[in-house]
Amino acid sequence: MSEDFNEIAGGLAAVARGFHARGWLLGTSGNLSAVVQREPLRIAMSASGVDKGELRPEQVLSIDEGARVVSHDGGKPSDESLLHIRIVKERGAGAVLHTHSVWNTILSDLYAAQGGLKIEGYEMLKGLQGVRTHEHAEWLPIVENSQDMTTLADTIGETLNKHKAAHGFLLRRHGLYSWGDNLAQAKRHIEILEFLLETIGRTLRIREQSI
Ligand SMILES: [Zn+2]
Repeated sequence: MSEDFNEIAGGLAAVARGFHARGWLLGTSGNLSAVVQREPLRIAMSASGVDKGELRPEQVLSIDEGARVVSHDGGKPSDESLLHIRIVKERGAGAVLHTHSVWNTILSDLYAAQGGLKIEGYEMLKGLQGVRTHEHAEWLPIVENSQDMTTLADTIGETLNKHKAAHGFLLRRHGLYSWGDNLAQAKRHIEILEFLLETIGRTLRIREQSI
């Protein structure tokens, strides 16, 4: 493995441990990836079925654009690799992160009928790349969950095309995807969106209790 790959794998493992500590990647849930090179496409991808709180750099696999493992023995890439690859291609992302938090799961169901969730008026929105004011309205699309990853990747491709300004999307009763030009930016986007989703969820609960 190249030094670049090892450094990227170490970065993904560190992010996984941090997200696990916040309760966003419990058990073997969620997955993380970062682009190692574009031509031909090589992506560092977390292996399937590993505890994300204990993800080690050697459990990060190198995959190609067909989600085939190219240079690592043992381990199988995440089932959701095809979704990561699609996001990398559609958005030119350098890293893609996917969390399964309680709040993103709840809100992905609560707002599914509307096809998404509008987040506006929060200062934390300014943590999203290109957003300069709290008055920004972020539309977070919600896509119906599926175990057919080829079809789901196509649906996500269409969703990303339709919502070109979106910094992430939710899979219904499943989780959140976000991305960035690099791992640091993708991590920041997940932190911002998780914060906003939890804030919205807690606000709804407090309002409900005070009626
Ligand atoms: Zn997932």
